[in-house]
Amino acid sequence: TTAPAGHLLGDRFARELPELAVPWQAVGVPTPTLLLLNEPLATELGLDPEELRSPEGVGLLVGTTVPDGATPVAMGYAGHQFGSYSPRLGDGRALLLGELTGTSGEARDLHLKGSGPTPFARGGDGLAAVGPMLREYVVSEAMHALGVPTTRSLAVVATGATVRRETLLPGAVLARVAASHLRVGTFQYARATGDLDLLRRLADHAIARHHPHAAAADNPYLALVEAVMDAQASLVARWMLVGFVHGVMNTDNMTISGETIDYGPCAFMEAVDPETVFSSIDARGRYAYGNQPVIAQWNLARLAEALLPLVDTDEDEAVRVLTDLVNTFPARYSAAWTAGMRAKLGLTEDDDGAERLVTDLTALLVAARPDHTTFFRALTSAAHGDPAPVRELPGFDARLGRWLEQWRATTPDATLMERHNPVYIPRNHLLEEALDAATAGDLGPVRELLEAVTRPYEERPGLERYTLPAPPETAFVTYCG
Ligand code: AMP
Ligand code: MG
Ligand code: MG
Repeated sequence: TTAPAGHLLGDRFARELPELAVPWQAVGVPTPTLLLLNEPLATELGLDPEELRSPEGVGLLVGTTVPDGATPVAMGYAGHQFGSYSPRLGDGRALLLGELTGTSGEARDLHLKGSGPTPFARGGDGLAAVGPMLREYVVSEAMHALGVPTTRSLAVVATGATVRRETLLPGAVLARVAASHLRVGTFQYARATGDLDLLRRLADHAIARHHPHAAAADNPYLALVEAVMDAQASLVARWMLVGFVHGVMNTDNMTISGETIDYGPCAFMEAVDPETVFSSIDARGRYAYGNQPVIAQWNLARLAEALLPLVDTDEDEAVRVLTDLVNTFPARYSAAWTAGMRAKLGLTEDDDGAERLVTDLTALLVAARPDHTTFFRALTSAAHGDPAPVRELPGFDARLGRWLEQWRATTPDATLMERHNPVYIPRNHLLEEALDAATAGDLGPVRELLEAVTRPYEERPGLERYTLPAPPETAFVTYCG
């Protein structure tokens, strides 16, 4: 059958990298019901929202209607999960439908999650539940609105099937959009095949799609690693600035484009604490808030290893230049983070005084542990001339008081601060509450939460509860993807 806009779906990945693409089809869906559709994103992609709401359109969004000329594939990749290498992960419950070129002219992947088991399923059922797919939709759209590069969510469709987890849950398929789904783990997989031609084709594909300037460098593959390092340094800095904890920074969950991917046990930190972990499967805190920059560097070292034979035919020389490059990650990260902190603090000068204010505040916040989001928004009020909200925060002490006066003496730019310090983030307890309601059939709370977090910098009446941290008894919610 022909689907709306089917002729727009490209098959570049499947054609250029057949070794990494297993043609596959989605599992049948008993009673598909569209729960959420991202109309602005659909339009951006050149898709007609009205057509997507039709039975054929919903069929496209769950993978049961394959447009003529499209080649849905399960993508192969490897990855280090919690530090241990798995040679064959791949899309166990996902499919790449193809690439869409929308109004921007840039190709973007249309991908389904929860569309049935694939040859990479490793015993998994290939399915997804309504709660986790809505979670990915809400958090990814919140991240986008916060200005953090991320995969986007086009739609969530309830399947009508039941998914067996600890309990029986309603099933769903998420339609996700990304600059691409190339991961560090994709390179690990290609390298492990021993096929240098495949590795080179993959690297050239990644350069063409995401880092075209690398093609003109003396050593394009070294330049590719450097470009991914910069994209990831900037990305992880943005996570840290908004208090985001990804939760599963395995190498298969780190993109080459620099977009956040795979929203499972992620959450936003409330009380400032570098050891913050939300995932029940991360008992040792490998992916705690404060570890994220170091883990990003560790993952990038795995990317560098995978690309070694392309960087130099002399292995010792390749190791030397790549090691030197990977060692520059902390400086790149630090530059991105410091620039972001200056903006959060409304500091328009890039001088020693500004740097000192940033460094001092970081230590003071870890000691005082205020709610991260509330603190920076209260500082924004202080920049507007009202220091009461920040002075009244629990944990505000004499040392923070002295810091506050030094900072106010720089006459911080309140308008700049308003654009960098959100009012609304998807707080975990409210997200869980909304997902529970949706699982029970009421989408109202999810829609209201989305309304708040997709315009995060605009304070609006009626949304006060979304600005408040969790009451103490619910403050630590573990969630296992
Ligand atoms: P993640 O931890 O979400 O990055 O997933 C790791 C791997 O497990 C990926 O290869 C997924 O495709 C696969 N996977 C996760 N859940 C399922 C499932 N229910 N069925 C099959 N594969 C799955
Ligand atoms: Mg993943
Ligand atoms: Mg996942």
